[in-house]
Amino acid sequence: MSNPSIKLSIIGSGYVGLVTGACFAEVGHQVVCVDNDPRKLDALRAGKIPIYEPGLEDLVHRNVAAGRLRFTGDIGEAVENSQVVFIAVPTPPQPDGSVDLSFIEQVAREIAGVLKDYRVIVDKSTVPVKTGEKVADTIRRYNKHGADFDVVSNPEFLREGCAVGDLMNPDRIVIGASGERAVGLMQKIYEPFKAPVLVTDINSAELIKHAANSFLALKISYINAVAAVCEASGADVEMVADGIGMDRRIGRNFLNAGIGYGGSCFPKDIAAFIAICDDLGVPFDLLKEVQRINRDVRARFVKKVREALWVLRDKKIAVWGLTFKPDTDDVRSSVAIDVVNDLLGEGAKVRVYDPKGAEKAREFKLIEGADFASSPLDAAKDAEALIIATEWEEFRNVDLGAVKAAMHTPLVFDGRNLFDPGTMEQMGFRYTGVGRTS
Ligand code: NAD
Repeated sequence: MSNPSIKLSIIGSGYVGLVTGACFAEVGHQVVCVDNDPRKLDALRAGKIPIYEPGLEDLVHRNVAAGRLRFTGDIGEAVENSQVVFIAVPTPPQPDGSVDLSFIEQVAREIAGVLKDYRVIVDKSTVPVKTGEKVADTIRRYNKHGADFDVVSNPEFLREGCAVGDLMNPDRIVIGASGERAVGLMQKIYEPFKAPVLVTDINSAELIKHAANSFLALKISYINAVAAVCEASGADVEMVADGIGMDRRIGRNFLNAGIGYGGSCFPKDIAAFIAICDDLGVPFDLLKEVQRINRDVRARFVKKVREALWVLRDKKIAVWGLTFKPDTDDVRSSVAIDVVNDLLGEGAKVRVYDPKGAEKAREFKLIEGADFASSPLDAAKDAEALIIATEWEEFRNVDLGAVKAAMHTPLVFDGRNLFDPGTMEQMGFRYTGVGRTS
């Protein structure tokens, strides 16, 4: 490899840390991934990947075998043996929406305690603007050996489900830094990725991440609000979205009407950005409306099911999809899970199927009372209604004739507009999508 190899450590080996570490190793860097969860470390050391992400398993195995990627629980050893230390620990929401920064603070203290020579400390977790200043202050306070260091903000924009592709081929790399030495090292790390690099100050880099995710959520809520207008007027939101999206100033991405955004990032990042702006004395009320629309779309969807079945108690309802999006096993803050719980709360008998998310939904006891099916068809057996809550490709390819034959009543509520209303009606289903009539 012609690019210079840099020694890196990543603190936190979850969705972001593990995929980032594996991709850095893939382009030739020497990477050590750190985690404080012994179960996760044992699994990783045994070659087992604790999360599902397409392409990740091969990537990890290949780079471990090549000696470029390893795992440890010892942060001191990792910091000692790396020039650049990335922080990729959780930044979960607190009840008021603001960010719990205790994981970041703890890691900053731990790094400070073992810092002996110059290191670049890079925050990859999603954090409020001005966190870099606090990380630098903390490291200064606990820096036993008085070692020199720089703090950099390098927000991550990967999407779960295609994280490897996003990391290997990013739209842009944002480097928020204040010193040339740190910027130089960061540019070397990212050189092999051949992506546009935007160098900013630290505060701007931190703000970019929250502003970007809030804008994407805003686009989703916008089209969901348009979907409600389509339902009231007889227009078709898919056609409207195509017509809007063909305008290059707008684009078609993130204009898919459905049951709303979820996942471990959007809900928490929008809530955090609202809290940050309130705190700065510049309330961002537009984002509160984005949240309200997102809550309403789910309520409107469940209402449609209730209206069709009249009383939900004891009704057999099949739900396809639990993950917050396809191609992941991540069920954190998934709207699909919320819908299942709405139905369970009204006494329905819910039978769910998801290609990858069932295990984690079970493990974290997210939908207690629901039955788990072994296939989409198995879920649909004797069901009085079928709900599509996540747009897995597997569902698109299901034998719909067999599904209809298996169901008690062929009622379909498509929360992701996966199917064509006309085709579904022709097949004999009573079909309800979002923002469209057949
Ligand atoms: P995660 O929960 O999947 O992983 C975090 C990991 O950090 C866990 O394995 C945990 O055991 C470990 N950890 C916690 N405290 C630690 C410590 N003191 N020392 C060592 N390890 C520790 O979280 P994630 O989804 O990877 O998110 C990490 C950050 O990246 C968050 O700020 C998130 O908002 C941001 N982010 C996430 C995504 C995404 O799609 N998941 C995308 C962009 C940014």
